[in-house]
Amino acid sequence: MNSGRTDTADAVVIGGGHHGLVAAAVLADTGWDVCLLEAAESFGGAVRSAELHPGFTADLFSAFYPLSAASPVLRALELDRHGLRWAHAPAVLAHPARPDGAPAAVLHRDRERTAEGLGPRDGEAWLRLCAQWDQVGDAVLRSVFTAFPPVRGPLALLRRIGTAEALRLARFLALPVRRMGEELFAGEAARLLLAGNGGHADIPPDAPGSGLFGWLLAMLGQQHGFPVPVGGAGELSGALARRASAAGARLHTGERGERIDVRGGRVVAVHTATGRTVRVRRAVIADVAAPALYRDLLPPDAVPPRLRADLDRFAWDTPTVKVNWALREPIPWANPGVAGAGTVHVGADERGLVRWAADIESGTVPDAPFLLMGQMTTADATRSPAGTESAWAYTHLPRGVADDDAADRLAERVDEVVEEFAPGFRERVLHRTVQRPGDLQAADANLAHGAVGGGTAQLHQQLVFRPVPGLGRAETVVGGLYLGSASAHPGGGVHGVCGWLAARAALAEQGRLGALRRRVTSAALELLYRDPPSAR
Ligand SMILES: Cc1cc2nc3c(=O)[nH]c(=O)nc-3n(C[C@H](O)[C@H](O)[C@H](O)COP(=O)(O)OP(=O)(O)OC[C@H]3O[C@@H](n4cnc5c(N)ncnc54)[C@H](O)[C@@H]3O)c2cc1C
Repeated sequence: MNSGRTDTADAVVIGGGHHGLVAAAVLADTGWDVCLLEAAESFGGAVRSAELHPGFTADLFSAFYPLSAASPVLRALELDRHGLRWAHAPAVLAHPARPDGAPAAVLHRDRERTAEGLGPRDGEAWLRLCAQWDQVGDAVLRSVFTAFPPVRGPLALLRRIGTAEALRLARFLALPVRRMGEELFAGEAARLLLAGNGGHADIPPDAPGSGLFGWLLAMLGQQHGFPVPVGGAGELSGALARRASAAGARLHTGERGERIDVRGGRVVAVHTATGRTVRVRRAVIADVAAPALYRDLLPPDAVPPRLRADLDRFAWDTPTVKVNWALREPIPWANPGVAGAGTVHVGADERGLVRWAADIESGTVPDAPFLLMGQMTTADATRSPAGTESAWAYTHLPRGVADDDAADRLAERVDEVVEEFAPGFRERVLHRTVQRPGDLQAADANLAHGAVGGGTAQLHQQLVFRPVPGLGRAETVVGGLYLGSASAHPGGGVHGVCGWLAARAALAEQGRLGALRRRVTSAALELLYRDPPSAR
């Protein structure tokens, strides 16, 4: 720490989550002098791991990285040159519908093998779905992983499949995941592969948007698997930090950004809680949650009242409760098909998922929670001693319920659900820790109320509505300030795109047409956030 010191940088990045690290690397690659300030004592935000029990590495937050594998941004950073290695479980994921040992849906990296497990009719349908992905997947991803409005991705789609099929694809992607499953498959197993993956976002299975999520994750899992970094999630952040440092970025931990100074409508300096001041020549990239940026870091008079009112309607995603276990032996699943899967979706069948979502949306702490689970030693043998398992499961509390009592009750149910599906599980627990919503937020301010995605993934807060009605871009109402966290488009997940888009926007505004760009953006934002006629 450098209390009381003042220095200067072309760009200051506030927050050293993976998006902040990506932004720092991208800017430093172009020769900018970059200073990154991270509040915690280590980099990575929600991409970190720790030894919670001797010999057992636990991923403290995120754990599986299909979005990283598919991300052109992370691929371009060549993190393998900075020590990152990936590992895969024998099977990508499994979703047992019931505890009685009935066959589970299992996703394998080999699509023929996945199809075989789904029976002849649904197996064929699965292969057709994969063929559709082969045709459109990269163009859809390109449309999502770009600043709004997307141009190249949709054009590529139109060229490839024509307007009539593009229209049908748009309808298909707008389906709720339950309806999508019903239209595609006769049996529950294949439907669960979509619906369970839809459960990674806080979109009820009967709401539009859940289909897109379920389809995207299932198809990414089919194409790339659900890879994990060898040695723990922290190895991904470590590689990113090494990559950014190698490019010349100055990275600091223990430095919480406390205040951003604005003069003449532009960012001029960042102050930290330790008394450090960094003067800004060109840009600030904020890898912080949108409410924190606009309410806490910026001076009130830099944020138009209309934008502040929009922020009052900002919705977090649902609070999370996570349980980590060190197990003396692997989990004794009643259904042996589940044993080889890295990710396990468990606790709810198709209808159970609808009931679970209804609990979440109606303020009821679920008695039958749906769990996302990780069998980490199954995915990466380095995570714990041979013959043991490092595992976790997380689930959600209802919106607006994040207290410790509710969290502890739900955590208890988590263990009970696993015991139902794997009798004898509890006897194998050597060590158990619970991360309540308050613990998650204390470890990383962006995980406010235990939210995992930087704000809800529902339609009303996506694209031009993310984080508030706006341009769907990283530019903000303050010149030289860019939002580069998961609160920005395209939202939660470890893909690096939010940080990359913020860095690209900063570079573009310093480029040849930069002045014009800034004028157009400012005019658009001014129109958006001026007082409504009734208030004038
Ligand atoms: C329990 C859990 C499980 C998840 N599972 C997955 C998964 O398996 N796969 C996946 O792709 N995604 C997963 N996610 C989502 C994913 O981890 C996040 O969307 C992603 O990490 C967000 O990255 P970020 O850089 O925007 O923010 P974060 O990773 O939250 O990083 C923000 C950083 O900024 C720092 N910070 C905040 N405020 C300040 C400040 N004022 N000054 C300085 N520093 C500050 C924080 O300390 C933190 O280090 C999961 C998330 C959680 C919580």
